[in-house]
Amino acid sequence: MDIEKQKSEMTDTIAKFIKYFGKILPDDIQKKLKELAEQEESPMAKLTYDTMFKNQELARDLDRPSCQDTGVIQFFAKVGTKFPLIDHLEEIFTNAVLKATKEAPLRHNSVQTFDEYNTGTNVGYRTPSINYEIIPNSDEINLDIYMAGGGCTLPGKAMVLMPGEGYEGATKFILDQMTSYGLNACPPLLVGVGIATSVETAAVLSKKALMRPLGSHNPNPKAAMMEEELEKSINAIGLGPQGFSGANSVMGVHIENAARHPSTIGIAVNTGCWSHRRGNIIFHPDLSYEITSHKEVVL
Ligand code: SF4
Repeated sequence: MDIEKQKSEMTDTIAKFIKYFGKILPDDIQKKLKELAEQEESPMAKLTYDTMFKNQELARDLDRPSCQDTGVIQFFAKVGTKFPLIDHLEEIFTNAVLKATKEAPLRHNSVQTFDEYNTGTNVGYRTPSINYEIIPNSDEINLDIYMAGGGCTLPGKAMVLMPGEGYEGATKFILDQMTSYGLNACPPLLVGVGIATSVETAAVLSKKALMRPLGSHNPNPKAAMMEEELEKSINAIGLGPQGFSGANSVMGVHIENAARHPSTIGIAVNTGCWSHRRGNIIFHPDLSYEITSHKEVVL
């Protein structure tokens, strides 16, 4: 296959996948929402979960996005240095967003900063955002694609703490953010936390934490314990589904960490909403692919 045909094939596959997961939530999120719904006692919380499940049914039946806010599309790519289309990825991702926006259709969510106009295509200066990790000696690409909605982006915050503030300070930072802005993000939330040196290193990790499948834990036992404690604490706020109060506030808390400068603790938080639309797709060098986030998908 010549290079143009390969580019077009990969673009089409990604566009179809974006259209698909804009309607159908990933398997882990669907499973968790059902589990959380069963734990609710209050009629309002039960009704809210029922409405979410009805929403999912209608999105599938009517072939429409499951939330009107289809977000800004973000790509997190683990790229093998030997993946054949490595030189063309930005063009492929951008064209896939253009195509999915027209065909799904997706809401237009890209406003050019300073010039303040909506491009009407979901593509703009440095958008879609792309984060690359290079994987040596691999010929595959492992791609997490995410629709970052406005409401669930709103609680995002990063700062640098004095080292003496320790993990207690980090916990306070996260809980302050959840008690003030968690409500805006259509709970139950997936809470991503990044702990590193500076605001940008922590912030990127906090968003990557939202790409991890539910039920996964940080490999460091102390960090995994903090995930568990934070989950209990944020649940104790009792936000419930859509903030109408209830037994739980979160689907999970994921922490990603990096070694830090001894004089700083960079901390960041990012949230995903109940409609956490992300998809994982792995392309092989011949462009055959596996989708790990949605088992029943046929593109
Ligand atoms: S927070 Fe999520 S569910 Fe709520 S409006 Fe935004 S994208 Fe939709």
